[in-house]
Amino acid sequence: MSKEFAVIGLGRFGGSICRELSNEGMDVLAIDKNEDRVNEFKNIASHAVIADSTDEETLKELGIKNIEHVIVAIGDNIQASILTTVILTDLHIKKITVKANNDYHEKILNRIGANQVVHPERDMGKRIAHSIISNNILDY
Ligand code: ATP
Repeated sequence: MSKEFAVIGLGRFGGSICRELSNEGMDVLAIDKNEDRVNEFKNIASHAVIADSTDEETLKELGIKNIEHVIVAIGDNIQASILTTVILTDLHIKKITVKANNDYHEKILNRIGANQVVHPERDMGKRIAHSIISNNILDY
């Protein structure tokens, strides 16, 4: 049985997560407040809806409570990212992954109950630096 996911925020990061999960046959509910972004995912995700995730009632109406894993990929709007995460923790979502923009954002997200906080630019920079070092070791 395919696992159920929701991706909130369909920018470059959230969009890429949504595409990959869908390609792997997962059931994905794609959410964004921007209509154009949502239209891009109509034929990719199982469901794509225009909604503001800072509105608790809207999230409830979308049946977010029944989703096992929610990924919050709201980029620049830290306030919206934090408020969305608080709502999701209040609704007792099993697993919440959130994209952090900076160290303060990351600290707050950990405090308010996000299960996994990712910092894609920093994490990818670290991985690439390590792969550069290990490739150089093999080269010499
Ligand atoms: P990335 O850093 O991954 O490239 P981005 O730069 O596109 O993403 P943003 O545009 O700040 O990042 O946010 C990602 C998406 O989140 C946008 O498509 C935006 O419409 C959506 N978004 C922001 N706030 C909300 C909200 N409250 N509810 C739903 N979607 C939201």
